[in-house]
Amino acid sequence: MLAIQRSIKKHQLRLSQVPFLRRLESGEATMEDGRQFAADLTFWVMTFQDILRLNRSRMRQSTLSEIVEQHLREDSGHEKWFWHDVRALSVLRSAEWYFGEECARVRELSLELASEVFRSEHDELRVALILSLEATGEEFFPRVVSYFERCNLGHDLKYFAQTHREVERNHEVFETKTHEALARLQLDAERRAEALGLVTRVFAAFEELASFLEQRILDKTGHQSEGAVTKYLRDAASRGLVLRVGASAEAFGTDFGGILRSPVTAVVDARNEDDIVQAVSIANALGVQLTVRAGGNSQAGQSIPGSGLSLHVAPIREIRVDPGARMAFCGPGATWRELLLVSLKHDLIPYVQPLNLDLSVGGTVSAGGLGSSSHMHGTAAEHVGLLRIVTGGGKSISGRREDHPDMFDAVLANQGRCAVATEIGLSLRATAGRVQTFAFRYNALSDMLHDMKWLSRHDVPDHMEAFSSSFFLGMRCGAAGYVPHRRWAFTLHLSYERDTEVDPRHVATALRANELVLNESSTVASYAARYDSRFQFMRMSGAWQQAHPWLEWLLPAETAVELATTVLERLPAAFGEGHRLFYLPGDRDYPRFFAVPQAREFVGLAVLPTGVSKENLSAALDAASAIDRDLQERGAKRYLSGWLGSPNRMFWQHHYGQKFENWLDSKKRWDPNAVLQSRLFQTLETEGG
Ligand SMILES: Cc1cc2nc3c(=O)[nH]c(=O)nc-3n(C[C@H](O)[C@H](O)[C@H](O)COP(=O)(O)OP(=O)(O)OC[C@H]3O[C@@H](n4cnc5c(N)ncnc54)[C@H](O)[C@@H]3O)c2cc1C
Repeated sequence: MLAIQRSIKKHQLRLSQVPFLRRLESGEATMEDGRQFAADLTFWVMTFQDILRLNRSRMRQSTLSEIVEQHLREDSGHEKWFWHDVRALSVLRSAEWYFGEECARVRELSLELASEVFRSEHDELRVALILSLEATGEEFFPRVVSYFERCNLGHDLKYFAQTHREVERNHEVFETKTHEALARLQLDAERRAEALGLVTRVFAAFEELASFLEQRILDKTGHQSEGAVTKYLRDAASRGLVLRVGASAEAFGTDFGGILRSPVTAVVDARNEDDIVQAVSIANALGVQLTVRAGGNSQAGQSIPGSGLSLHVAPIREIRVDPGARMAFCGPGATWRELLLVSLKHDLIPYVQPLNLDLSVGGTVSAGGLGSSSHMHGTAAEHVGLLRIVTGGGKSISGRREDHPDMFDAVLANQGRCAVATEIGLSLRATAGRVQTFAFRYNALSDMLHDMKWLSRHDVPDHMEAFSSSFFLGMRCGAAGYVPHRRWAFTLHLSYERDTEVDPRHVATALRANELVLNESSTVASYAARYDSRFQFMRMSGAWQQAHPWLEWLLPAETAVELATTVLERLPAAFGEGHRLFYLPGDRDYPRFFAVPQAREFVGLAVLPTGVSKENLSAALDAASAIDRDLQERGAKRYLSGWLGSPNRMFWQHHYGQKFENWLDSKKRWDPNAVLQSRLFQTLETEGG
C-alpha cells in the first residue's frame, strides 16, 4: 500500500496548487462568493455520505473493514451540520435547482466518485478510496474554514467551521499507526495498478470540481474586498471624481459581445487626465482593480470589470488637428466619426479607420485597428506617433514613438493591460474628394485571394475588402439527415480615392474575377460611413442586443484558402454570412503585442454575425471554440477584440509565442500592482500570470 500512499501525497500537492485552493487559502473572499460556494457543494456533501455507507456495506475482509467502519463512524452525520449551515447562510435552494443545469457538473463529478464504490470487488481498493477522499478533505478543509472566516461568514456555522476542522484533524484514519499498518500491507501488481488508477481518478474529479467552483466565481465576479471598494468610493468621491452607481453602472457589466455579464459596483467617469491619475493612484493605494472602458464594443470581456470597478474614458473626447504636421490629437474617447468631421475640413483622413465610426480612437488602437486600407497601411495603431498615458502605477508620461518605444508597446494593441492612453497623436494622410468603388464577383476563393495578393503589390487600390456569401441549392442528405446545400461565392470591393474617374477595364484586365457587379462613386465622408445603415438595421431589428461571438483571425497567406474553407464549411448557420476578408502585408512594423502568424503575408478573416439568438448560442460557441482551436494549431492568430472564451495561460503562451515572457514582464513594469485588469485576463490572473 506504500506506493498508493506516495501517489496520494503527490496528487495532494498538485491539488493544493490549483487556482481555487489558492483562492480559498488567501484570495479575495466575499459573502456572496462564500454563500454560492456552500450552495454549489450540496450535492457532493450528500453523495459523500452515501459513498461512506455503500463503501462500508460492500467490504468483505475483517481487518480492513475495521478501518472503513471507523471512518464511517467518524464522518457520518456531518450532513446535519451542513444543512444547519445551508439554513444559516440562507442558501437552501429548490429541488429543481439541485437537479437543474447549474448543478449538473457537481452532480456528474459526485456520481463519478460514487461509481468507484461499484467498480471493484476488492477491499484494498475501498481503503484506497477512503484514503484518497480523506486526503482531498485534508487539502480543502483548513482552507475552506479560513475562507469562510474571511468571507465574514464564520459565525454560527457548524460544517464550515473550526470545530469541524478539529474533528477532521483528530480522525483515526490520519493516525500514524494506521498509516504505518497500511504501508506494510502488500498488494499484488494487478491490485496496485487498479488502486493507483483509482487514486488518479479521484484526484482528477476533485481538480475538476475545484476548477468548476473557480469558474462559478469568475463568472459572476465581484470579488474585491468589500471594505477596500467602499473605501475606494469614499476616497474617489472626496477627491471630486465623478462616480456612478446602481442602474446606470449596470450597463458596464457587459459588452457588445453580449455573452459575459459581471456585477459593477461603480463607474468612474473620467473627465480629464488628472481624473485618471487620481482614479489609478487611489486604486494602487488601496489594492483594488479597475477596468479601462471606452465604448464597450469588444466582445470577450476586454472592457468588462472582473472586480466591479470601471474606469470610463469615453467622456474625454477633444480633438485637435494640426494640418501642417498632418496630425490629429485625440482624447481617448473621441470617435472616428468625430475625428473625420474635423480632419476632412483639411482634406485629411486617418491612414486606417475601422468600419464602425462610432468606436473610440483609444479603444481601437488598444485592439490594433484594422480597416479596408490595412493592405497598404497595416493597423491604425502603427500610425500613432505621439502618446500621453497614465501607467497602471499611476504615473503620467508622454512622448513620441521614437523616444519611448516601450511605452508604445505597452499601450498599442495591448487591451488596456498596462496603461491608459489619455491622448493619442495620430498621423493623417491627404485624400481626394471622391471614392470610386468596383465590386468583382468570384466563384473561387483561390482566385480572389490570388488577386488580392496581386493588388497589394501592383495597382494598389486605396481600399480593399472582400466578402463571402452563400446561395441555397436546396436540401441534401448529410451524415445527420437533410441539411441545406449551399455554395459559397465571393465579392471583392476595390476603392480608389481619386478626383478623376478610373476605368474599370483597366482594373479588370489583370484580375481572375468572373464578373464586375458594381461601379459607383461617392464622397470620402459617405464612403467612410458606408456601414452605418447596416448597423442601424441591426439596432432596429434587435440584432444589436443579441450575442455577438465575433471571430477574427489572421491566417498565413499560403494556407489561407484551406483554412478559410475549413471555417466556411464548419461554421453553423447561426454565424450567418457576409464574412470579411482582408489582405495584410507581412513586412510591416506591427505593434509589438499584435500577434501575427509566422508568414510573409496574412489574410484577415472576420466572422461577424449580426446577432446570435439565445437558443443558438451554446451550440454556436461550442462550434466556434472547436474551429478556433483547429485554426490556431494550424498557424492562425486571433485579433483580440472578438470572442475568445476564457483564455487561459496556455492560450496566451501560444498566442504570443516567444514574446510571451516579454508580455508578462511589460505588465509588471508598467502596472506593478496589477491594478488594471478585465474579464479577458481573469483566468490568466488566477493562474498567476
Ligand atoms: C460594430 C462593430 C464594428 C467593428 N469594426 C471594427 C473594424 O472595422 N476594425 C477593427 O479593428 N475593429 C472593429 N471592431 C472592434 C473594435 O476595434 C474593438 O472592439 C475596439 O476595442 C472597441 O472599441 P471601444 O472604443 O468600444 O473600446 P472598448 O471595447 O471599451 O475597449 C476595448 C479595449 O481597449 C481598452 N481601452 C479602451 N480605451 C483605452 C485607453 N484609452 N487606454 C488603454 N486601453 C483602452 C479596454 O480596456 C479594452 O481592453 C468593431 C466592433 C463593433 C462592435
